[in-house]
Amino acid sequence: MTLADLQEMEREAVMPTYLRNPVEFVRGKGTRLWDAEGTEYLDFLAGVSVVALGHCHPALVSAVCEQAERLMHVSNLYYSEPGMRLAARLSELGLGGKAFFTNSGAEAVECALKLARKHKPQGDVVVLEKGFHGRTFGALSATPQEAKQAPFAPLVPGFRAAARDGAELPVDDQTAAVLIEPIQGESGILPVADEVLQAAREACDRHGALLIFDEIQCGMGRTGDLWAWQAAGVRPDVMTVAKGLGGGLAIGACLTGAVHADVLQPGDHGSTFAGGPVVAAAANVVLDVVTEPGFMDEVARKGERLAAGLRDLGLEVRGRGLMLAFAAEDAPEVARRLLLEEHLLVNATGPDTIRLLPPLTVSDDEIDQALARIASPD
Ligand SMILES: *Cc1c(COP(=O)(O)O)cnc(C)c1O
Repeated sequence: MTLADLQEMEREAVMPTYLRNPVEFVRGKGTRLWDAEGTEYLDFLAGVSVVALGHCHPALVSAVCEQAERLMHVSNLYYSEPGMRLAARLSELGLGGKAFFTNSGAEAVECALKLARKHKPQGDVVVLEKGFHGRTFGALSATPQEAKQAPFAPLVPGFRAAARDGAELPVDDQTAAVLIEPIQGESGILPVADEVLQAAREACDRHGALLIFDEIQCGMGRTGDLWAWQAAGVRPDVMTVAKGLGGGLAIGACLTGAVHADVLQPGDHGSTFAGGPVVAAAANVVLDVVTEPGFMDEVARKGERLAAGLRDLGLEVRGRGLMLAFAAEDAPEVARRLLLEEHLLVNATGPDTIRLLPPLTVSDDEIDQALARIASPD
């Protein structure tokens, strides 16, 4: 089947919600991808921060194959080891409380929102401008972006948007939670200032509200710390993770601290597929790798190498670790040219920003190759 055949099938049979690039990938290894013609590409997007260990990491592939051969699904009405083990490890590495597993980032946010509402019945949720929390109705209602929300009104009530400089967070005794993406990824890698995270922490403590950090994109080691909030020293009550957690398989989680671990009770929430043995086995391997001694330091060091290389090209760089962006005029066209002519995958988050989210396992040599491709004249 040719690319033209796939495009014809898409036109006929797939809802036109995505603006796909005209490339069909058939194989991946590490930071490299190959299209149907055998052309090699460098992947500096990693499936939007998902393929944290690179494509087809051998330990991940064998864990998934072994688990798939033994048992794929039993539902959450019974026990299986991978999910329990994953929850215990996430508790230890995260906030010390409990996990609810999901199949996506948006679902992890939905769980956090339900937990907040149960924590303070009828309470409001304060969110920051330019935040992105997903596409389901609750998560979309928490995403104060006119273009994404407007066609779907009426949205879920009870959300209040605040300026992202956080000068006046509208938190009061009616507030159930403040939900913040510590580094706003979809809006172009916009870090929220440490002072805003601290102010949110203090406001939540004062008014008995939950501080929820959405670490779906910036967590799982992306910034050179396992969690982005560690750099600011501001610990949330609840956090959401997904994307890189499964290294390419669909798993997310809502994680609590010890205090709020039992807010959601039997019957309050559920999911048929979530936390099943295969995706949990994959996530356990991702945790094995990112917690290897020195791995996080390497992410930070490689991020600095990439950022310094971009600055040497005269580009204006934002972000931390391997979650970076640079300013570019007509960014969608730059991303298209880098893909089709330089065989480098990046992503335009808007008209003037190129986002880079390479696998955390990217090598120095691959970083230098990507920089050379970005530097090459139009
Ligand atoms: C991607 C993302 C989501 C939504 O995750 P899905 O898996 O697409 O539902 C939510 N929050 C943040 C910060 C994200 O980057």
